[in-house]
Amino acid sequence: MSAHEPVIGVEIHVQLSTRTKMFCGCELSFGDPPNTHTCPVCLAHPGVLPVVNEEAVRRALLIGLALGCEIAPRSIFHRKNYFYPDLPKAYQISQFDIPICGRGEFRALREDGSELVVGITRAHLEEDAAKLTHAGGRRAGAAESVVDFNRGGTPLVEIVTEPDLRSPSDVALFLRQLRQTLLFLGVSDCSMEEGSMRADANVSIRPVGSQELGTKTELKNMNSFRFLERGIEAEIARQEEIVAAGGRVSQETVHYEPDTGHITSLRSKEESHDYRYFPEPDLVPIAPDPAWVEELRAGLPELPLPLRMRMVGEMGLSAEDAEVLTERPELVAYFMEAAALADPKACANWIRGELRAQLREVGVEPWQSKVTPAHVAALVGLLDAGTVTVPAAKEVLAEVIASGGDPADVVESKGLGAMDEGDLAAIVAEIIAANPDQAQQLRDGKDKVIGFFVGQAMKGTGGRADPQSVQRLVREAVRGD
Ligand code: ADP
Ligand code: ZN
Ligand code: MG
Repeated sequence: MSAHEPVIGVEIHVQLSTRTKMFCGCELSFGDPPNTHTCPVCLAHPGVLPVVNEEAVRRALLIGLALGCEIAPRSIFHRKNYFYPDLPKAYQISQFDIPICGRGEFRALREDGSELVVGITRAHLEEDAAKLTHAGGRRAGAAESVVDFNRGGTPLVEIVTEPDLRSPSDVALFLRQLRQTLLFLGVSDCSMEEGSMRADANVSIRPVGSQELGTKTELKNMNSFRFLERGIEAEIARQEEIVAAGGRVSQETVHYEPDTGHITSLRSKEESHDYRYFPEPDLVPIAPDPAWVEELRAGLPELPLPLRMRMVGEMGLSAEDAEVLTERPELVAYFMEAAALADPKACANWIRGELRAQLREVGVEPWQSKVTPAHVAALVGLLDAGTVTVPAAKEVLAEVIASGGDPADVVESKGLGAMDEGDLAAIVAEIIAANPDQAQQLRDGKDKVIGFFVGQAMKGTGGRADPQSVQRLVREAVRGD
C-alpha cells in the first residue's frame, strides 16, 4: 500500500460570554430553567427585527485581531436556511462571503520547541441554535424531544482553519492553545463539556507528495480534545482501510463513539448551495470605525505564545512549565507575581507541582486559595536559605493552605525549621547504632542502603532532616569519608 498522509482542517464554534444574546436583549443563562430567557425576537415571532449586539462585535474583532486576521471594513449577515426544531426562524443568521474577520494565522508551540503554523480562513459572527434534548439521549428513535430556547440566539464566533494540519496530535495541540488564547482575550468560557467551545474536524487522506486534496469527511462535535484526537485517529484509519481495499472515501458527516472506538456515518453532508444563503435584509452591514479597531488592537493582552517564549527564554522555565502555567490567565498572573519576588524556576516548580497537587484535593485553584503568590515566594526563599527542608516545606504549605498564615511564622510555630547539624549528627549516630546490619552493608559497598538511613532519619525527625545532610553524615560516620 502506498503511504498516505492525513490532511485536517477544523471549524471551531465559540460561544461568546456576553451578557445578552446576539440579536435581542435576553440574558445568556447557562443552567437556568428551560425557556425562561426568551422574547419575540429569539422565538421568531412574525414581524420582529434583530439588532446587533455591539459587545459581540467587539469580541469577534478581538478574536480576529489576536489571530492576525484581516478585519473587513464592511461585512454583512446572511440567512442560512434549513429546518430543524431548534431553529424557530427556519434560518440561522450567519455570515457567508464577507465575514467580519478574513485571512489570518495562528502559531502554536509543540513540546519539542518546534512551531505549528495554522492558516485561519475566516472567523465570522452568527447565532447559536436552541438546545434539543432527546428522551433516552438518542437523536434517532427517541420517543420524544424537548427544546430549550434559552440557548437560541447566543452569540457565536465560528473560526475556520485552512487544511493545514497533518496529525491528530497537532489538532489537539492547536485547539488547546487556541483555547488558551481565547481565555486570555476573555471572550468566552471555552468549556468543551458545557459546549461553549465545540470543534468539528474535517479529515481526508492523500498519497504522500500529492498536492491535491482528497475527499473529506466531517467529524462532529466532540466534547473533549482527547476524544477528538482519538476520533481523528480512528477516522484516518478507516479511510486508509477503504483506500487499501480499492474503495473511495465518500463525503459525509461521521461520528466517533468514544466507548467503542467506532466511527458511524450520520448523513451525507450538505453542500453550501443547499442552504440557499441570501443577504439578511433586516440588518445593516457591520462597519467598525477603524479608530475603534486600532484601539482594540493596541489593547490586546500579552498572548500565550509570546508569553511562553518569554518564560522559556528569559525566565529559565521549561517548555512544559510554560505550557502549564499559561493554561489560564489567572494562573499566569499568580505565577508572575511570585516570580517577581523569588527564583522563577523554583516558583514554577512549586506552583505546578506541590501547590496544585495539594489544592486539587480540596478542589481549589491557586488564585482562589489562601496561599498568595507572596507566600509561594516566601516558601521558595526559606528553602533556598536552608531554613526548611523539602518535606517540611510541603507541610508548611499544607498549613498555609489551611490557615493562610505566613510561611515563616508557620515554620516557627510548628517547629518545622531544619535541624542544626549537631542535633542531626546525634540522631544519625543513634540510627547507625540501632541498625548494625545495614551499616555493614554500606561499608561493604552496597550504596543503595543509604536510602534506608535517609528514611529512618526522616521518620525520626518528622521530616525536618535535610536528606543531603543525612547522606553525608551517614557516610562520614560509617566509612569515615
Ligand atoms: P465545506 O464547503 O464542506 O464547508 P470548506 O471548504 O468550507 O468545506 O472547508 C471547511 C473546513 O474543511 C475547513 O476547515 C477546511 O480547511 C477543511 N477542508 C476542506 N477541504 C478539506 C480536505 N480535503 N481535507 C481536510 N480538510 C478539508
Ligand atoms: Zn430574546
Ligand atoms: Mg464551509
